[in-house]
Amino acid sequence: MRLKIEITGLVQGVGFRPFVHRLAEELGLKGYILNNTSGVLIEVEGDKAKLDEFLVRIDTEKPDISRIYSLRHSFLEEVPFREFEIRESIAEGEKRALILPDIAVCKECLKDITNPKDRRFLYPFTNCTNCGPRFTIINSLPYDRVNTSMKSFRMCPECEKEYNFPQDRRFHAQPDACHTCGPWVTLYDCEGTLLSGKDEALEKTVHLIRKGFIIAVKGMGGYHLVCDATNEDAVRRLRKRKHREEKPMAVMFIDTDAIRGEAHLGNLEERAVNSVERPIVIVRKRETGTLSQAVSPGNSTVGVFLPYTPLHYMILRKLKKPVVATSANITDDPIAKDEKDAFARLSGVADYFLAHNREIVRRCDDSVVRIVNERQMPLRRSRGIAPLPVPVPFRFRKPVLALGTYMNNAIAVGVDDKVFLSQHIGDLDTPLASEFYEETIHDFLRLFEISPGTVVSDLHPGYYSTKFGEAHYSGKLVKVQHHYAHILSCMSENEVPPDSEVIGFAFDGTGYGTDKTIWGGEVFIASYRGCRRVYHLQPFKLPGGEKAVKEPRRTAFSLLYETFGEKAAKFDHLPLTTQEKEILIGMLKKEINSPVTTSMGRLFDGIASIIGLSHSVSYHAQAAIALEQAAQRSDAADSYSCILKNNMIYQFPVIDQVMDDLAKGLPKEIIARKFHNTIVNIILSISQAVREETGIRKVALTGGVFQNAILLEGSFQVLRERGFIPLVHQVVPPNDGGISLGQAVAGYYLHL
Ligand code: ZN
Ligand code: ZN
Ligand code: FE
Repeated sequence: MRLKIEITGLVQGVGFRPFVHRLAEELGLKGYILNNTSGVLIEVEGDKAKLDEFLVRIDTEKPDISRIYSLRHSFLEEVPFREFEIRESIAEGEKRALILPDIAVCKECLKDITNPKDRRFLYPFTNCTNCGPRFTIINSLPYDRVNTSMKSFRMCPECEKEYNFPQDRRFHAQPDACHTCGPWVTLYDCEGTLLSGKDEALEKTVHLIRKGFIIAVKGMGGYHLVCDATNEDAVRRLRKRKHREEKPMAVMFIDTDAIRGEAHLGNLEERAVNSVERPIVIVRKRETGTLSQAVSPGNSTVGVFLPYTPLHYMILRKLKKPVVATSANITDDPIAKDEKDAFARLSGVADYFLAHNREIVRRCDDSVVRIVNERQMPLRRSRGIAPLPVPVPFRFRKPVLALGTYMNNAIAVGVDDKVFLSQHIGDLDTPLASEFYEETIHDFLRLFEISPGTVVSDLHPGYYSTKFGEAHYSGKLVKVQHHYAHILSCMSENEVPPDSEVIGFAFDGTGYGTDKTIWGGEVFIASYRGCRRVYHLQPFKLPGGEKAVKEPRRTAFSLLYETFGEKAAKFDHLPLTTQEKEILIGMLKKEINSPVTTSMGRLFDGIASIIGLSHSVSYHAQAAIALEQAAQRSDAADSYSCILKNNMIYQFPVIDQVMDDLAKGLPKEIIARKFHNTIVNIILSISQAVREETGIRKVALTGGVFQNAILLEGSFQVLRERGFIPLVHQVVPPNDGGISLGQAVAGYYLHL
């Protein structure tokens, strides 16, 4: 296997290449390292265990004077290499100024704030050249203090001395500041009355969290809603006020030992938690933990992360307890970033506000990752990573703007040999979200100084993003089918060469098809230049449309009706009255408000409801997650048989067999597992059939359904055992948050 690592930071001229060379030789790895315009690029090959060790030891054993601002990695197919070498630097390539992401507070700065003799002792905005905010404080380029939100703070003589002294750690650190001259915190009650400032405000905040209050805390890329994660009552109150019924909330801990008390941490999970990007990492909860049940109710996992600013460290150190730290918004609105906004939207949610007077120029939510299949899968690519680009193996002739889709939106601009993905924007569901969306597009075009030659949107005529494209770029707009864009994302991050083809499985909840129905269980033969739909689920109906998404029992009934006809009304295991069933049958028969779909996400929902796990949901993919977690508790190896013919995956025989197992009284865990095994088998059978016909061996696994660990690991392994090359997501999310990469790539190939 090959491990590809891209590092930005102070890694040139500091002995980094010899260090990596020694480490590779010691572990018996082959490959190379080279300096490029933004840092270093490393590729090494060997056993997975050795590669993991290499990855972890880069962080822990790197030269003292080197600094890592970001490290992005993925495990890919072997090349193979013969030896380890230090290659010639790549000097060419457009030197478009890289805007760095926000960087977690460094060890030296943490030392400063804990040393009573240091002049920055307990200063919550301490930073240096190697850490602190970047992306969220930059107004314009070049990155100088006058172009950041630090411009209103005049440096004191001592700070100015550091700033101008080349040997100082704060030489030209743009956000440099101290107690005397920098930003400070202030505490307000929910009416906006100023209660206290500076040290006293922090003391008081900790006291209030301990008492069970909810505090809106202004951080790096926006406000968090914070409360004691071990206080059942406080967490429940937060949920109620935020209108967030069951969707898990992230918990911030002081260190990895504290996390270990509450959750299981594997090697790669621990690395991710500690990495300079400081993402939220989804890990398995311990049964003996002390966290409130309301943190992630009915869920065996929890999102955990470490503090990334001195302010967060100071709060947690004093509090000595983990806190819930969730985006400060109500349902689908963007995260609050300034005081006016926070008070207007959150005064009914937070009891107190811990604000500060350093302006957040652009909001940036926390990133989220999960380790699946011994690889790091991004679920949300945002703070700590945005706006770093994803390299592509070609040069855009003219800049491309990719508008994303609807859910988990992130836009992208393709320019030179890179695609810059934006921070997480979210679902384009509310006026505020749409406003943030347009702001981000203008922001990216301005920052990277581009005027797009091609603009790419989804096919869906109803999406805000599509309408935006039509309204502003009608002459340059190319529309790309949703699932093809997913597959292109997966292909390009996996370095599929220009003329090869892949078998692409795009399984997700929803995406507009070329026949104007809702697709989502799609298999394509795809290249960068086009695609052919070779298999899909047999179409079924969603009685009530959107309502069926919120109520999987409706989808479940539809699946039963299509399998058993009128007999479906006799089953009494779904929470539906006789009357409700009659209405549903009427809708299905007469095709009233019952859109047709081939969605794999909806099939997972339907099965979850049929076996009694989830009949109505309060957040996206909740039923599918319940199904995955039930399957996790079983190790059944058998599966259901299914019919594949005429380009169709016939799922109805599966429903039939599931009903048989239910009648036999088989536990839901086992049925859930057998269903997962079935989908893995379908992926393998289709791949084999297509390979026989075409010889294609590369199989792309993409779309939100592949966030499911059992499905992804299971299909990855069987495909590998049978000589396929499975391609999975490690750079951008498999969900719609990663789709703009594929759209940008399409913009290059389809519109020369
Ligand atoms: Zn620092
Ligand atoms: Zn100062
Ligand atoms: Fe999708």
